Amino acid sequence: MKPDFDSNAAREAIDADAMLAQVQAWSAINTGTANLDGLARQADALAEAFAELPGEIELVDPAPVTAIDAAGAEVERAFGRHLVLRVRPQAPRRLLLTGHMDTVFPADHPFQDQRWLDEETLNGPGLADMKGGIAVILHALTAFERTAAAEQVGYDVLINSDEETGSLASAPLIEQLARGKYAALTYEPSALPDGTLAHARGGSGNYSLTVGGRSAHAGRNPQDGRNAIVAAAALVLGLKRLQAEDCPVNPARIDGGSANNVVPDHAIVRFNIRPRSPDAAERFESGLVALVGEVQQAHEVAVSRHGGITRPPKPVDRRAQKLFDLVRDCGAALGQDIAWQSTGGVCDGNNIAATGVPVVDTMGVRGGAIHSPDEFLIVPSLAERAALSALVLHRLATGDHV
Ligand SMILES: [Zn+2]
Repeated sequence: MKPDFDSNAAREAIDADAMLAQVQAWSAINTGTANLDGLARQADALAEAFAELPGEIELVDPAPVTAIDAAGAEVERAFGRHLVLRVRPQAPRRLLLTGHMDTVFPADHPFQDQRWLDEETLNGPGLADMKGGIAVILHALTAFERTAAAEQVGYDVLINSDEETGSLASAPLIEQLARGKYAALTYEPSALPDGTLAHARGGSGNYSLTVGGRSAHAGRNPQDGRNAIVAAAALVLGLKRLQAEDCPVNPARIDGGSANNVVPDHAIVRFNIRPRSPDAAERFESGLVALVGEVQQAHEVAVSRHGGITRPPKPVDRRAQKLFDLVRDCGAALGQDIAWQSTGGVCDGNNIAATGVPVVDTMGVRGGAIHSPDEFLIVPSLAERAALSALVLHRLATGDHV
């Protein structure tokens, strides 16, 4: 480590009060993924805050995303814009830092306010997941920019608006920004309140199977009908047969059907899968193709499919492990004990890892009870994790190849 920036310098460079003030102001803006007004206000507030850093800020339009509605029609879904900051794009060694501005709490959800639980613990929407993490990005970079080493690297910061619904409108942008990067850091809250990082992650896929049958009178000519609900039921049972130890399958919902005296001609089966490895994902995919073929033939229906794996499984390869080791070493220099464990949860780290770039994706604050009205932020972790990230950035700029 260069003498111009050690653990003491990293700690001293962080303004904890400014971080808390920002996080509280940001938490007060509702940014449920569907609240486009709130997201626009949040993006403006972030653009203003990140303007303190060098580089160019851009608000990027969401990629087009469609979903299958209850009638089986493909409909467009609206999303907010994503914030991108590009700093020193010509630098040979470039990093990616990512976070998300959306939360799981819609504008009409009762959980909108903040409340101190004790001197160090603040309860409020998005504080841990992950407006606190965005403050960590900003203040770590601010500290890092004051070091001589900063000139040696460039970086992109991405704050997307749709992570909580699977990053469908930002996935192409994530991939584009990740490609060719030296390393990436994502600022989801730590896996445990003690700061433990998420290590390997499984993947996730969401699918809709739309079944088209033929309607007929239930009493006069049922033999002319092709019952879409029965075919949908066969699909659901077949999906459960495709389930494996390393690939849980969850049929979640069936839409469709008709009046009691009509053979139903449409149904939609919705399901989620959690492949734990690329192999498991591939096995499921080929099983699904065979299942759809069988059901189409046996029930004389047409089945069309929408969706797929949007979060590829994230194994930890040799280079990613080196990045974990580097984070642990920086933690040790700061007196922070950094451990890790694998998890079934998914995040943008999955998408980044799929481009072959090493990533640690829980660099954000310590906290817990996320996605619930009990969500809390351990306030001292704002400065603690910002110092950690500043040191990690400095090491990535000056150290040997990961
Ligand atoms: Zn999150």
